[in-house]
This record gives sequence, C-alpha cells and structure tokens, in this order.
Amino acid sequence: MNRSGRPGAAGRPLPEDLAALRRALLGHYDRTRRDLPWRGDTDPYRIWVSEVMLQQTRAETVTEYYRRWLERFPDVETLAAADLDDVLLAWQGLGYYSRARNLHAGAVVVRDRHAGTVPGTYEALRELPGVGAYTAGAVASIAFGEAVPAVDGNVRRVLARLFDRAAPAPKWLRETAAALVDASRPGEWNQALMELGATVCTPRSPGCHACPVSAWCAARAAGTQEERPAPSARRAVLRERLATAVVVDRDGCALVARRPESGLLGGMWSFPDTPLEAGVEGDEDALVASARKAATAAGARVSHEPPLALLEPVRHRFTHLAATYRPVVLAGSGADGENRRWVALDAPVAVALPVAQRKIARAAATVLGRL
Ligand code: SF4
Repeated sequence: MNRSGRPGAAGRPLPEDLAALRRALLGHYDRTRRDLPWRGDTDPYRIWVSEVMLQQTRAETVTEYYRRWLERFPDVETLAAADLDDVLLAWQGLGYYSRARNLHAGAVVVRDRHAGTVPGTYEALRELPGVGAYTAGAVASIAFGEAVPAVDGNVRRVLARLFDRAAPAPKWLRETAAALVDASRPGEWNQALMELGATVCTPRSPGCHACPVSAWCAARAAGTQEERPAPSARRAVLRERLATAVVVDRDGCALVARRPESGLLGGMWSFPDTPLEAGVEGDEDALVASARKAATAAGARVSHEPPLALLEPVRHRFTHLAATYRPVVLAGSGADGENRRWVALDAPVAVALPVAQRKIARAAATVLGRL
C-alpha cells in the first residue's frame, strides 16, 4: 500500500513508503515503549525465557514470574540441570505447562549438543524442542540481530489491519512480516510491532488517533479496523465431569499422582480422577464409587468407610474444555512412588499443582479442619 492507503504490488508497501513507515514505528517505540525487565536485554537465554512466558500471557503478569525464574534458573546450564518438577513448580500459575516442559527440554539440548551456548541463527533455534517460528524469530532478531520476522497474535492483528485483510493466511503473514523487517534494527522492529498491537492496535477499540502508522493503514482508511482480522471459527467447547478422589491418610496428607505425559495437563500432578459417566451426575453412590476407583488405580488403599466429605464442585475452563471436578474426600493410606506423592494439604505443596487442583486442596483442607 502507499501513503494514500491503496495497496501496492502484492499488497505490500512501496519501498519509499516502507522506509517512512519504519521510521515512524521505531520512533514511536523508542519514545513510548513500556519499561519491562527483558527490554534492552540481548542475552539469548533470557530473551528465550521471556518470549516463551509471553505466549498466551500478558506482559504485566509475566514480569514477576520472569524475575523469580531468573533467580531460580539464571542460565541455561542451571535450567538444564534442574529437576522437571522444580521447573513446573516455578511455572505454577502461568498455565500452558507444556511451555515449561519444552523450555527445560530445550535447555538440555543446548547443554548437550551446543556446549551450553544458545544457537545463534533462526534455523538452528528452530531445531530446539518446542521452539516454533515465532520464538525462533524473536530470539534470533532480538539476541542475534538476524533480520527475520516474529509473528505473534499482536503482529497478526496489526498486519491484518495495515493491509486490510480479513483472514490473513500464515504464508502471507510470514512473507509480509519478513518484507517489513527493518534490517538495521530487526529485534527492535519486531518488538515495536508487538508493542503496537499490545498497547495501541488492540483487539477492541484500536487507538488509531494515536497510532504512528495510521497514515499507511488500509483498514483505517476503509473504516474496517474493528473487523480485522475476522474472528476465526470457534472450536466447540467440550464439557467433562470428573469424579476426583482426595484420599487423606492419618497424618492429613493426601495423594497426588503424576498424569500421563500426553493429554490434558500432561506430566502435571493432580488428585486422582476419572470421567463421570453421563446420567450419573446426581447419583452420590456412583460418584463415590468412581472416586474410589480412581484412587485405587493411582495406588491408594482406600477405607471402606463412607467418604469423609463431598466437596462443592470445582469448575475450570481450559482452552477447549470446561471441566467440573466433583471432589470426594476419602480416608486411606499408601506410600510415595515414582508417580505418586502424599502431600500435606495445609502447607505449600512441593509439586506443581494446576490451579483447579489447588482449589480442591484448599477446599479439602478447610473441610478437614472442621471435622
Ligand atoms: S491505524 Fe488503527 S487499525 Fe491501523 S494499525 Fe494503527 S491502531 Fe491499528
């Protein structure tokens, strides 16, 4: 497009306008960028950590996690040597735990195959576990000055609006973002685009009046900015009800089990659970029987006495799953094993528990305190 808002050849800016657009956006970024702890840093490990944390999480939330993470795992060697449970514990609360598992696996590869030095090119970064096009582009451009794009959700939205595209295809996004990168400041260019999307070109009510690139924006010229990009078709949300066993021993410790590596919350710890069959939601006997079954399968010896308590349902929304946990508190016993631990409910738990499981633990501790 050119300054009048008309698309240029192949829907990309004309070169003379591109130079002006870059100057406008980078100048705005230099003046207004938020003061975030990873800004100005070019250490590839720290950039990598920040970029992984920032996926699906707001910068304000990430800040404190990022600081604590670097205290705990200051470099790639420390992370590679850490126990995965400690890594997941440090990640607890950020969600999408596969990001932490991949970061740990990537650190191990860097230590074992790259002598502890984060590889310095986009192509080599892409070889690391869990490092996709976005993370590789962000690390390569910010830490190593490689002129490659980094397209996250914010950049996708900005480009869709700049070029007035309702449904920008991944290939078009990659090629367009690559054509826009300022080779003299690639890392700052990518961050400037992301920052624009996070602070000005926001999903709702974009601040076009304060936007440094509004003169080039085709969507603004057409009045379509609120409709770009068009919402993608939503995946249906599955609903699942789970009988959850909180098996408590004489010391007030409860059993948590490590979940299989694949599937929901893979590799995380949780109270044993099992899906409740449809039609038995109101049947307490069926609920208790299912909870006992889950507890026994996880390695607990469960008392045949009636349950100590039935807790209020705990609901949690995952991306495509609405889960309702029906916790049943049962008396029982057992020993720690590779994939099971008996943990105190009324003290910080030494394994990473997802947010819904922590709610169940708190509710169980409260009820048991009253018994
Ligand atoms: S002019 Fe408006 S829609 Fe266009 S890039 Fe700027 S904020 Fe986004």
